[in-house]
Amino acid sequence: MTGHHPQTRAVHPPVIVPAGSRPLSVPLYQGHLFSFEAADDLAAAFGGPDEAFFYARMSNPTVRSLERAVTELEGGAAALATASGMGAVSTVLMSLLRSGDHVIAQTTLYGGTFALFQDLAERWGVDVTYVSGDDPAEVRDALRPATRLLYLESVANPTTHVTDLPAYTAAVRGTDVLTVVDNTFAPGLCKPIEHGADIVIHSATKYLSGHGDVIGGIAVFADPGVHRRVWDHAIDLGSAADPFGAWLTVRGLATMPLRVARQSASALDIARRLAAHPSVTRVHYPGLPGHPQHEVARRLLPDGSGGVLAFEPAGGRDAGRVFSEAVRLISLGPSLGNIATLVMHPASTSHRQMDAATLAAAGIGEATVRLSIGLEDPDDLWSDIDQALAKAT
Ligand SMILES: *Cc1c(COP(=O)(O)O)cnc(C)c1O
Repeated sequence: MTGHHPQTRAVHPPVIVPAGSRPLSVPLYQGHLFSFEAADDLAAAFGGPDEAFFYARMSNPTVRSLERAVTELEGGAAALATASGMGAVSTVLMSLLRSGDHVIAQTTLYGGTFALFQDLAERWGVDVTYVSGDDPAEVRDALRPATRLLYLESVANPTTHVTDLPAYTAAVRGTDVLTVVDNTFAPGLCKPIEHGADIVIHSATKYLSGHGDVIGGIAVFADPGVHRRVWDHAIDLGSAADPFGAWLTVRGLATMPLRVARQSASALDIARRLAAHPSVTRVHYPGLPGHPQHEVARRLLPDGSGGVLAFEPAGGRDAGRVFSEAVRLISLGPSLGNIATLVMHPASTSHRQMDAATLAAAGIGEATVRLSIGLEDPDDLWSDIDQALAKAT
């Protein structure tokens, strides 16, 4: 750019493209566009996700690194990273469904996903049948010619219900129905594609990034053709992941298996101590023998049941609420999968619109408290839980 005026040179700094060596860590390509020598090459780039990078709503090298890493983690063929977990859910649903279609979905859905299904039913004419997730025969009974998707969650919030994925995917085998599994609660622990799922969704906001500094999501596809169908819509829906969030998520993935292993071990330890505590009436954790799907969890989550557990302090709704406010080390907050331990009392926060009967139907007690165990020493966590229980019960 020598010979140009200073302002012209300012707009065209040297862009270094490495040659002869390669970066060891994933570079952050924050730029949203790439330039070309030949118009034909740019035209070819419009052809699909595997062509040259040209515009970050379609693809970006940092986002692609994340997509490849999570594809490998889940044993899929391709992935689509999105701006949030709900971005992945909505992009998958809105890309694969049309008015008149029918979906079979588990009742214990993440709140945002449930609201989206309600909206799809009311405004888009997509019919949804809800099933308990406890008996695959209910899927065979609900199947219709118009059924397109079976929507499940590997481990559900906040009751830690575990769905028998092999049995549920077997119930739609031989049909065109695609099985979607939200695996946010069990990354690396449960591999839905190995159990017959077609699409796996994660809120990358949670365990994948892990440090509470990202909002992001991703959908992994077992079949490249289904990925391509969804990608074609995703570029119009504009659900693309931002490169910086994708970069933080790739960075988080490096320690994800270690974090999740530790969080699972600590959660089991805390669950056992809670189960032995005189002021606790019930503990929900798949790793405990008393959990309704403990046997399913032993098959699907052999290396650990994840970092989320729920329990019921004696004393009803007030006890749950007081506990969530009495903790000192643990933070009262709505998310999960963080390095720091978080607590929530669903009846007074996330599920406050539900009365006791509706809560009970969802398997949630008025006292139920959810803990997302972080990376603190479990003895320190226990001291905090113990003092908060003393105040609450
Ligand atoms: C948080 C969450 C989502 C939504 O993810 P966002 O990143 O908040 O959009 C979807 N499913 C499950 C199970 C979640 O926990």
